[in-house]
Order: sequence, then structure tokens, then C-alpha cells
Amino acid sequence: MKEIDSFESIDSSDDDHEETENSDQQNSKLVKPYKKDCCDIFLGRTLQVVTVFLLLLSNYFVYQLFLRRWFKEDRKFYQMVRGIELDNTGTCLFILYQTFFFLAVISYFKAAFSDPGFMQKLEPPIGLLEDNLIGFCQKCEDKKWKPLRAHHCKICQKCVFRMDHHCTWINNCVGLKNQKYFILFLVHCEIYCILIIIYLTFSAVLVYQNTPKLFMLFIGMTWKYLVAILFIVLSALFIFLINEFLSDQYDCIKTNQTTVESYKEKYGRPHSFFNQLQIVFGQDQFYWLIPTKPKYNSNYLELLYKGEELAEMLQSNSDFIEDHFNHQQSEYYNAFRKYKVS
Ligand SMILES: [Zn+2]
Ligand SMILES: [Zn+2]
Repeated sequence: MKEIDSFESIDSSDDDHEETENSDQQNSKLVKPYKKDCCDIFLGRTLQVVTVFLLLLSNYFVYQLFLRRWFKEDRKFYQMVRGIELDNTGTCLFILYQTFFFLAVISYFKAAFSDPGFMQKLEPPIGLLEDNLIGFCQKCEDKKWKPLRAHHCKICQKCVFRMDHHCTWINNCVGLKNQKYFILFLVHCEIYCILIIIYLTFSAVLVYQNTPKLFMLFIGMTWKYLVAILFIVLSALFIFLINEFLSDQYDCIKTNQTTVESYKEKYGRPHSFFNQLQIVFGQDQFYWLIPTKPKYNSNYLELLYKGEELAEMLQSNSDFIEDHFNHQQSEYYNAFRKYKVS
């Protein structure tokens, strides 16, 4: 699952909540803040431009070299190589192709430029202070309260709630508030790449069937085939990479973990897979595949458990610490409501 190392700065998050856990440690440990260097900024910005440029370039070439032929064309040569006409299937296929292109671009911009869930300076709940479940980030400038499921990103220099990883491709952290956009970008991009492969192969076959071979050779149709093959190979490569990312995201959602937490082998309280999807994509399934802002069903007081601890609790059917607090400590219960992520 961890082949993504070369693409994402997993190690940009802090390693353990415990290291910032109580006030004694706050005084004894002075953590040197990570200096955001210009390489991080330059690499992030460059990859942002490259990603958008690749998306636009693929759209332009595929349209210009192939899809344009699907539309009515008066010139004799193009009439010969035209496969599908505008007034039939071609229109629907063209709209489908452009829809996934725009969805991928919108999801990308939303993932890259929206708040991933940066922690604000909040007063920690009193009930938890007594139970040693409160930590303060030593790496943030204002040493703010750090919920158990918040992690510090060295590149953003901020704590992010349910931080998954810092993604260089989007030049932003992936956290609770933009995970939906990030996953949708991957999904729409994958569908877009699949459509490129199908359309280019289909167009190439049609062009080949409708064009006399000698004629094609002499007027230089061959280079268009080379471009088509290049785009097919690149699309297949992107599909392979995207599947790796999506498989990681699937594993994490299923086990109520973020990628950072999976490295620490810690888990959130187990929910059904459907509920887990609701946490990331919002309550309303109708909007799951559209990059709209989801309504969150999560809160800053969620706890993390170790694998063995969780297995024991599930086996003995014992209460989760959250339930215990809810019933017995009104501060926790009030805080639970107060600190709901919105
Ligand atoms: Zn921090
Ligand atoms: Zn970050």
C-alpha cells in the first residue's frame, strides 16, 4: 500500500501525538519548527501547473486530432476519415468525455485550494484535560490544542484534522475537509483516461478502415497514430498509478484510518463502510460523485485506538471510551457537541 512514498510527503506529518501530550512535556520539549524551504514551494507549484497543463493538453490533442472528426466536416478529406457524425452517438460521447474532463479539473482545483481542515485555536474540553487525552502542538507557532486525530504537517506548518497526507501533486494537505475532492479527482481522472483509451482506439480503427492505406501513408497520417499511441500509453500509466492511490484510500476509509494513522497502526472507532463513506463524502449520497461541499459527520473529540486494543474491545463487546465519556462526563458530552466539525 505504500508505493506512494515517492509522490507524497507522508513523513511531512508529525509522528506521534504522545510527544506533545501533556503540559509537563510542553515545557521540557522545545521542538524546532520545520523551515518551509523554497524547494517545497517550487516543487508544489510546478506540479500544480504540470497537472493542469497535462489535463488541458490531453483534452486539446484528443479533441483536435480525433474527436473533431466526429462533427460535421465539409472538406472532402475529413469527410472520408470521419467516423461518427455530430447528430448521433458522437454528440453524446463528446459530452460524456468533456463532462469527466471538467469534473476532474473542478475536483483538482477544489482539492488544491480548499482548506483541508486546518485547526483553529480552540479551548480544549475540560473533561478530557483530566484524563490526559489532550495534546498541544509544539510545532505550531501558537501551540494550539491538537485533537488526537489532528496531525501536524511540516510543509503547511499547521495542524490538520484527520490529515491523510501532504500531496505534492495538489500542493496541499489532504484532510477531512478536502478528502472528498481529492478522491473525486482520482476517480474522474481515471474515467477520463479510460475514455481517452476507448475513443482513441475506436477513432484509429475507424480512420484506418475509411482511409486507403497508400493515401494515408503519403499524406502523413502516421504521426497522428503515434500521438494516439502516446496518449493511450500515458493514460494506461495514469490509470495504474491512480488505482494504487485509490486502493490506499479504500483501505483507509474501510478501517477508519488516515494514511498517517495507518503508519502508526492506529484506528478510529469502527463503523460500517457506508457510514465511513458518509464521513468522507457527506450525508447525502446524491452528491457523492459531484465535487460539492459535504456535510461532515465527524468531531474533534474522536479517539484513536491501537489494533490490539480495538480487537480486544470488539471481542469483549466493551464500550468505547467515547461512549463511556458520553454517559458519565457531561463536559465531554457538551464538548462533543461543541467541537463537531462543520
Ligand atoms: Zn501543529
Ligand atoms: Zn500539508
